[in-house]
Amino acid sequence: MPRRPLHPATLAAQALGWTDPATGAVVLPLHTATNFERDPDNQYRRGRSYGRADNPGYDQPQALITALEGGAASLLFASGMAAAAAVFQTLPVGAHVIAPNVMYWGLRRWLTAEMARGALAVDFVDATALDELRRAMRPGHTRLVWIETPANPLWSIADIAGAAEIAHEAAALLAVDSTAATPVLTRPLALGADIVMHSATKYLNGHSDVIAGSLTTAAADPFWDRLVMARSGGGAILGSLEAYLLLRGLRTLYPRVERACRSAQRIAEHMAAHPKILAVLYPGLASHPGHEIAARQMAGGFGGMLSIRVKGGEAAAIAAAARLQLWKRATSLGGVESLVEHRASVEGAGSPAPPDLLRLSVGIEDPDDLIADLDAALAGP
Ligand SMILES: *Cc1c(COP(=O)(O)O)cnc(C)c1O
Repeated sequence: MPRRPLHPATLAAQALGWTDPATGAVVLPLHTATNFERDPDNQYRRGRSYGRADNPGYDQPQALITALEGGAASLLFASGMAAAAAVFQTLPVGAHVIAPNVMYWGLRRWLTAEMARGALAVDFVDATALDELRRAMRPGHTRLVWIETPANPLWSIADIAGAAEIAHEAAALLAVDSTAATPVLTRPLALGADIVMHSATKYLNGHSDVIAGSLTTAAADPFWDRLVMARSGGGAILGSLEAYLLLRGLRTLYPRVERACRSAQRIAEHMAAHPKILAVLYPGLASHPGHEIAARQMAGGFGGMLSIRVKGGEAAAIAAAARLQLWKRATSLGGVESLVEHRASVEGAGSPAPPDLLRLSVGIEDPDDLIADLDAALAGP
């Protein structure tokens, strides 16, 4: 037993220190079996019958994410979207939910479609303004408040503790998409959230080679039981190889995120003083409207994501991205390699992204190389 509670970075590096009881291997084997043998007396004492409900390869990554988030239990899903959708689909049909108007665009689009077919009643609000959130609550009808912080693609900050209080006053749940913050920087459950969701595709895996999602709950309550059933019943399960790779990525979560944060802060400060840049959106800058709350609810850094607005509008932004050599022009985020994306092109109508905005996902390369590439691209042809 450890001499004292271990730091999360230690738990992650050793993936909770589990070893294989059969062989002593320090990496657990990858199980590909879809089905498990019954005992002769017709029982399943070892606890598993079929891989859609119970995959032994989920145990360690789910336990690790639970420990890092300080929760009661976690579930892996086939993608971040599958994890988020499971939460909304577990609510009563037609339930009133509140979502932020700055959020992951794919989820906003999905919620809008769910609303159109009558499955949910969604109010999109400015989640950075607690009074607006409070006004949108319909006590007795609102079942869930969903927030994302820092939120794509403006990196706006929602006050988790404040939102939890408002949700709970109306007997609603608070769920937080904490993909950009990661458990390294923010632990939403400790601030009052009921459920934390991650697109594990991003920082948790960190190597741009797995699509996965996770949910972690503060309490193993009846809503969580329904989510457990929603995964096996809905069938949006993660493959065994993906679960294995995700655990491997999780082991280096802390050094990856810490380095990305340090580099992002440097890049944000450099870009804020750049003559070709109109604005830098990064919660680590004192000029960011969410800086004060971020400083309170994030520890150790402000994340590896920032956006820059290029002077000269959309054409200038796209041309600057085209001149980058080191930063890869690609979607997604949270990988070891740095990425740039013109978000307005991706998100289309209804996007809060101004047309001159480039989103930067800062990887773990040497920050001097990243800055030099940005400077050269902004300098022009
Ligand atoms: C990518 C992303 C999602 C969706 O996750 P997938 O793994 O792509 O399904 C949800 N929220 C945020 C903040 C994301 O970045």
